[in-house]
Amino acid sequence: MMILLPLLCHALQPEDYFDRITIFSDGRITRFDHMPITVFIDKGSLPSGMEGYLSDLEYALRAWEEASGRTVRFRIVDKRSEADISVAWTAGPLPSRADNALGEAALVRMEDGFYVEIELLTHMPSSPKPLSHERMKAVALHELGHAIGLWGHSPFKEDVMFPSSENLRPSARDIRTLKRLYSTPPGTAQHGKALEILLPMAESRPDDPKIHYLIGSVYLDMGEYDKAINELLRCLELDIRYMEAGRKLVKAYLMKGGGEEALRRLESMISSNPTPELLNQAGSLAMESGRLNEAIGYFERALKLDPAFRPAKRNLLNALKLKADRLIRLKRYERAIETLERALELREADPQTHLMMGLAFSGMGDSERAISCYREALKLNPGYKEARWNLAAEYNRLGVEAMEGKRWEDARRFFEEALRIEPDLKEVRANLEAMYWNMGVDLASKGREREAIEAFREAIRLNPDLKEAYLQIGVLHLKLKEYPEAISSFREALRIDPGLREARHNLAAAYHAYAQELSGKGRYAEAVEAVQKGLELAEGEARRKLRLSLGLMYAKWGREDEALAIFREMLRENPGDEDALKAMANIHIERGNRLLKAKAYSKALREFESIPESLRTAAIYDVIA
Ligand SMILES: [Zn+2]
Repeated sequence: MMILLPLLCHALQPEDYFDRITIFSDGRITRFDHMPITVFIDKGSLPSGMEGYLSDLEYALRAWEEASGRTVRFRIVDKRSEADISVAWTAGPLPSRADNALGEAALVRMEDGFYVEIELLTHMPSSPKPLSHERMKAVALHELGHAIGLWGHSPFKEDVMFPSSENLRPSARDIRTLKRLYSTPPGTAQHGKALEILLPMAESRPDDPKIHYLIGSVYLDMGEYDKAINELLRCLELDIRYMEAGRKLVKAYLMKGGGEEALRRLESMISSNPTPELLNQAGSLAMESGRLNEAIGYFERALKLDPAFRPAKRNLLNALKLKADRLIRLKRYERAIETLERALELREADPQTHLMMGLAFSGMGDSERAISCYREALKLNPGYKEARWNLAAEYNRLGVEAMEGKRWEDARRFFEEALRIEPDLKEVRANLEAMYWNMGVDLASKGREREAIEAFREAIRLNPDLKEAYLQIGVLHLKLKEYPEAISSFREALRIDPGLREARHNLAAAYHAYAQELSGKGRYAEAVEAVQKGLELAEGEARRKLRLSLGLMYAKWGREDEALAIFREMLRENPGDEDALKAMANIHIERGNRLLKAKAYSKALREFESIPESLRTAAIYDVIA
């Protein structure tokens, strides 16, 4: 007896109602796998004077946390998009298929998860009487129970999850069920258990569309498509406005691979009873099967019956955009634009439609109109990345065109506009750099050196390592006889690339030319310094000429011994160097003549005699004689 007693109790009062908690969730355990669960409370939905309901909701959240021993925890968030559960209030009415008369918890599945939308009624159904705070607490508690994973009802009156519960605290059975739920992995299937409960319900209430919908949903989740289709069709027969059933029916047909059959069945339903809902379902099915023109036809028929039917309007807009997208891919731009114009008639303020319109105009080569479309899209949605990117790309395209036509000012304006819109576009920066380079080369070839230098400088501003531009600037300054500027440009090129032979060669030439200019002005010390810098860089013939210049400069400066030392060294390296020989001879002749004038005949004779015989002229022989 001692053993039988608890068994007896168990038989009378089951420990939990775990088997029933997937009948609203397709026969599959559906709970959040993270804590805390985030909750968005839509305070704006509360009429003024009813703010007290906020604390009723707070009460319900705390009640679940405490009763579950904090297995369940909530955190309030400010954004609906970040919320696992959102809660809003409405004066009603709730949809006829709502969970109960006072509230509804809708499970919204997405590709990678789900969220829950709870709606709570502020007034008793069809009555001006607001809900008492006690009732609000009880309803909030019940709907939150669904949201945290109890997707079914308890058969026991004492439980919060009893269909029209007025209980204010989760019972021990509620908590046991919840704990079992949270020790079961999310996604665990218990289709059989759900059907065990739902099928007898359908037998006792065969005309309840919601039960057929729930059974169909479980079959769909199991992959039993024929059974799912039968149940969902039965649901739609009973309630043609049951949108979720229509959506799942379409899904079932598609999963089964029977789009044709689905359309046929919908068509026969439409021919006996053409409603906007059915036409909309048929359109969705055609769209899912990729038959866009057919889909557009169905949606338009739906809207003809009810021009305010929003699901058909939204679907038509999407179908038109899909069609336009396809036409753009096929480069049939004019047809695409016609299609998009129809989309704009449905919703003028749709940024995506304007963007696509821009793509079509761009494809046709009409940049001006493309740009105004992208700008319109951005006006509607300033954060629209794709529109901004395409707008910048259009200006870039215009820039390239202008650059190819050598319209430098236009090109500059377009590229700069592109960069203003999208500063990180590497391609545009590279184009702008190339534009300045080409502009520099073009201007230089027309003898407009100053402007060419400016253009190359702009290229360097964009790319500080552009050694070729420094080289070009140096050459232009050389041409303008602006030697210090030429020298500093070539030095910059060498700083970037010390092995750049052209820069070394040009730098040596610049030093040489500068030295000659300085020497011409009698600034010998500076001239000599410049030549010496040139000598550090020059090789071969350039080096020989620099040394010759250095010698000549010393001679002009009056430092004849240093000049002679240089010419002698040149001759040691290359005894046949005629330039060095002549320069040396000239110094001896000048010195000899000066000594003759001073009547220092024997010293003068030594000077003349030191001139190599091959260079002695008749006059020199005469003087010697
Ligand atoms: Zn419920």
